[in-house]
Amino acid sequence: MEEKIMKKMTKAAVLVMAAAMMTAVPVSAEDTLTFGTNPEFPPFEYVTAEGVIDTYDGIDMAIAKKIAEDNGMTAAVENMEFDSLLVALQNGQVDAVIAGMTVTDERKEAVDFSTPYYTATQVMIVKEDSDIAKAEDMADKKICVIQGYTGQVCVDEMGYEYESFKKGTEAVMELVNGKCDVVVIDSATAQQYVSDNEGLKIVEDADAFGAEEYAIAVQKGNTELLDKINASIEKMLEDGTISELAAEYAEVEAE
Ligand code: GLN
Repeated sequence: MEEKIMKKMTKAAVLVMAAAMMTAVPVSAEDTLTFGTNPEFPPFEYVTAEGVIDTYDGIDMAIAKKIAEDNGMTAAVENMEFDSLLVALQNGQVDAVIAGMTVTDERKEAVDFSTPYYTATQVMIVKEDSDIAKAEDMADKKICVIQGYTGQVCVDEMGYEYESFKKGTEAVMELVNGKCDVVVIDSATAQQYVSDNEGLKIVEDADAFGAEEYAIAVQKGNTELLDKINASIEKMLEDGTISELAAEYAEVEAE
């Protein structure tokens, strides 16, 4: 009798345990697509109370989520410094990098890039009363850039001195506080900073700053993942999802 009860209890316990295990089983690594990003680049990636992926929101985060969903996976984000992203990718710490990252020949030596999903350019953020009207006017000015961004590469190639900062917000604060004259940064992000801060404007110089294309990076030779990413991106470019997201986030941010 006692034995019977014991058996019943054991059976029940096993069932309860199995049910608990089923619900508690973490999403296996195979079901998770981990993207590395540096969420200091609105409207592409930034931290917010409730984002599309945990506390991460922005155009890139929405794109990352859709890519994962298209492949029956869950998107996860690893927050790291912009400069560390490609190394983390090479080390296998993340599956892909989405960070408003411009395709450059130098980066192409280290990683493979997806089909580009957004075209941008570098612009200059200056005070409203600044006399900077084109890139060469920066020659005798104090220039701020963000470390490792293509903006830094552009200013470097122009042969001008500059000070580099870890975050866009830090460089913009220098400008707001009158400690520098110009910040060179990507167009959509510049727009964001200008709407967030009084007394700033954007100066464009298409002759000096060429078009840049943003793409997702994967480990060299990871064609399996690249094909999946490309299929999603191409679909989102075709059906207008990406332009809708760009418009939507630019608006949200301008509020
Ligand atoms: N597009 C720029 C680059 O690739 C800046 C990107 C970023 O800060 N997230 O360097």
